[in-house]
Amino acid sequence: RSAEFLARQDRWESNARSYPRRLPIAIAEASGSYVRDVDGNVFIDFLNGAGVLTLGHNPPELVDAVTAQLAYLTHGLDFPTPAKDAFLTAQLSMLPPGMRARTRVHFCGPTGANAVDAAIKLCKTATGRGDVIAFSGGFHGSSHAAMALTGLVDQKQPIANGMPGVHFFPFPYTSRCPLNLPPDLSAAACAALLENTLRDPNGGIPRPAALIMELVQGEGGVIPADREFVTRVRELTRELEIPLIVDEVQTGCGRTGTWFAFEQYGIEPDVVVASKGLSGMGLPVALIMYDEKLDTWAPGAHTGTFRGNQLAFAAGTRAIEVIREQDILGNVRERGRQVAERLAELQANPWVREVRGMGLMWGVELASPTDGRPAADIARRVQAQTLRQGLILEVGGRDDCVVRLLPPLNVTAETIDLACTLLVDVVGRCTA
Ligand code: PMP
Repeated sequence: RSAEFLARQDRWESNARSYPRRLPIAIAEASGSYVRDVDGNVFIDFLNGAGVLTLGHNPPELVDAVTAQLAYLTHGLDFPTPAKDAFLTAQLSMLPPGMRARTRVHFCGPTGANAVDAAIKLCKTATGRGDVIAFSGGFHGSSHAAMALTGLVDQKQPIANGMPGVHFFPFPYTSRCPLNLPPDLSAAACAALLENTLRDPNGGIPRPAALIMELVQGEGGVIPADREFVTRVRELTRELEIPLIVDEVQTGCGRTGTWFAFEQYGIEPDVVVASKGLSGMGLPVALIMYDEKLDTWAPGAHTGTFRGNQLAFAAGTRAIEVIREQDILGNVRERGRQVAERLAELQANPWVREVRGMGLMWGVELASPTDGRPAADIARRVQAQTLRQGLILEVGGRDDCVVRLLPPLNVTAETIDLACTLLVDVVGRCTA
C-alpha cells in the first residue's frame, strides 16, 4: 500500500519532494518514538518530523491541551489571547533571567525560514545597514532570503541572483578544516579571518546589519561550533555593534540539553530564532526573541496571517510544563551520553570519520579510508538498510555523508539502545 501512495504522490506532487524518495513509506499513524506505515510496519522514528517532535508523536498531555483549546479558538492573528499569553509567559520563563528582562518577542509565521527572514529584516531596520555575514555549511531555510544565507552551496545552484550583500566566512570544523589546517589551529584561524575582514577599513566589507550562525550546524552535518570561536564572534560583534543572530530553529527547545544551545556557550545573542520544537508536537509556530534595543519596527512593519496558531500555543505551553515536570532536559543529557557511548565503537571503523553531537542531535560522518572522499553512497545505503530493519534516520551534511539521529527528547534508554545496536550493525555491514 505504501507503493500505491508513493505512486500517487509521484503523479501529482511537485518533483521537489525529498524525504519519501529516500524513505519510501506512507505513514498511517504514530505514537511516541514510533511510526506505523500504511502496511502495518513499525519503525523507530529518529527523523522526528525533521526534529520538531520534542515530546514524540501525539504526546497525550499535549493532545489533551490542544483538544481543550479547540473548543475556544484556533486562529488569533496577532491579537492577545489567553493561549498566546500563557505561551509567551512560558517561553520567556525559559530564558536566562538577565536576558529575559531585555527581551522582546515577535511572532512570525509559521516556519523557521519565516523567522530567519524576520530576524534579518529587523536587524536591517535597526542598523540601517544592508550586508549580512553567514557561515559556510550553515542552513537557515528555503525561503528566498533564508536560502541566500545558507552556506550549503549545492542547494542554491538553481537560483540566480540570491539576496545581495551576504558574505560567507569559514565555520571551523574538527574533522575537515575549511582552511585545510590541523584541527587545533582551525578555530583561531577562522576567527582571525573574520576579525581581520571586519576591522579592515578599506579592503574589508561594509559594516554588516547582522551576523547569523547556528551553534550546532544541523543540516550542515551536525557540527557543534568551537567554543573559543563562538566567544570570539560574540566579543567582536559586540565591540563592532553588529547584532548577533543565533539560529536555534534546530538546536532550540531542549534539543542540545539546555533550553537553548547558547546557554552552553556562555553567550547571549542579540536575536534568537526559534521554531521547530516550540509546540512540542509539530504544530507550526515560529518566533524571534531579541534585545529591546533592536525594537525599531513601526506597527505593521512585519505582518503575516499565520502568527496566531492557538493550538500550537496551547501545546507549547503544556510542553514546557511537561518538560519541567518530567525533567526532559535531564533525559536529553543522559540519553545523549548513552548515544555517545553506544556509537563510540563505530569510531574504530575506518569508514567512520567522526561521530559527533550534542544532547540528542547526533551525526556519523562517513568517508573513504583510502582517499578521504565523502562516502555519500554508503550513507544512503545505511539509511536504506536501517529503514528495512525498522529505523528511520536522516542523511545530510555538506556532502550528504552524515547519518543523522534526532530522537524525541523523551526517548527511553531502551529505544536508544535498540536504535544504536541496529545502526552499529548496519554501518558494519555496509562498510564490510
Ligand atoms: N534554520 C535551521 C537551523 C534549520 O535547521 C531549519 C530547518 N531544517 C530552518 C532554519 C528552516 O526551518 P523551516 O524548514 O521550518 O523553514
